[in-house]
Amino acid sequence: MGIPFCPTRCAYCSFVSVDAPKQLAAIPAYLDALERELSATAEAVRAAKRRIAAVYVGGGTPTTLSAAELDRLLGKLRELFDLSACRELTVEAGRPDTVTPEKLAVLVRRGVDRVSVNPQTMSDRVLETIGRRHTAADVRAAVAMVKKTGGLALNMDLIAGLPGDDPGGFASTVEEVLAMEPENVTVHTLALKKGSRFLTEGTGSLPDGAAVGEMLALAREKLTAAGYVPYYIYRQKFMSGSFENVGWTKPGFENLYNICIMEELRGVLAAGAGGSTKLTAPGGIVRRLMAPKYPREYMERIGDTCAAKAEIVRFYQDNEFNGKGS
Ligand code: SF4
Repeated sequence: MGIPFCPTRCAYCSFVSVDAPKQLAAIPAYLDALERELSATAEAVRAAKRRIAAVYVGGGTPTTLSAAELDRLLGKLRELFDLSACRELTVEAGRPDTVTPEKLAVLVRRGVDRVSVNPQTMSDRVLETIGRRHTAADVRAAVAMVKKTGGLALNMDLIAGLPGDDPGGFASTVEEVLAMEPENVTVHTLALKKGSRFLTEGTGSLPDGAAVGEMLALAREKLTAAGYVPYYIYRQKFMSGSFENVGWTKPGFENLYNICIMEELRGVLAAGAGGSTKLTAPGGIVRRLMAPKYPREYMERIGDTCAAKAEIVRFYQDNEFNGKGS
């Protein structure tokens, strides 16, 4: 489920995520449209006899929503779907400057059991270069709130190869993050993508491929020594030095949603602007349904997006795949 709003826009971001005050004012109307789509999806899931194994609320930054809006959204999710077979419910709280004790309390009350707080780097200088508009102290404060709330496994995302960073700086970032004892750490390599401010305004001084390789080797060494194991890996286009993104976990805390996405083990039912539903059946049969990319377009065409959910029922009926998970 996608919430394409963020408090400000990071310089490396290529997602469709909006931050202007006028756009943020559209959040209530966006939630109205999203609830219509969730309702149509739930109806299709029931008719196709699917079960939900995991829920991932991503973005953007879902915790840009207020505590009351998060409560409304997660309450609706629970009201519409049978989540009795759901093994995990993750909400991205990627920007630490959006995390509050009130929002975390709502998440736990609504059954969320995993959040992702993403520093990317613990260097204030590098954070400023990449336009994150928060500090390393904000990260520490957000993680302290997560720990105090209790009941939430914690993922933290890092990026190797950011402008102005070097192997020593990245090693310090990894050490600081490990000291906060997250259950999962995802180590990304910077990807310069179309649509990011880095490509239109320049990046500053980027570490070269050798330096990025050294950063990743240092991260691997420190994560392994701290008892983490790698459990998924993927590559994107335009990544520094053709390296990869690796998900690390403390044993027993693997994120099911990430495994399913990487290994294409199950279908994915998306909701929200830019959502890509992927229906799968034995024999490598795949059918995709795409929602409009931009929030305004998504809201305007919500009727069509809801009507297209009938395809979910048709797909599973045609492939005689009922009763084998979703
Ligand atoms: S928080 Fe994530 S989605 Fe939002 S602007 Fe930054 S990189 Fe993009």
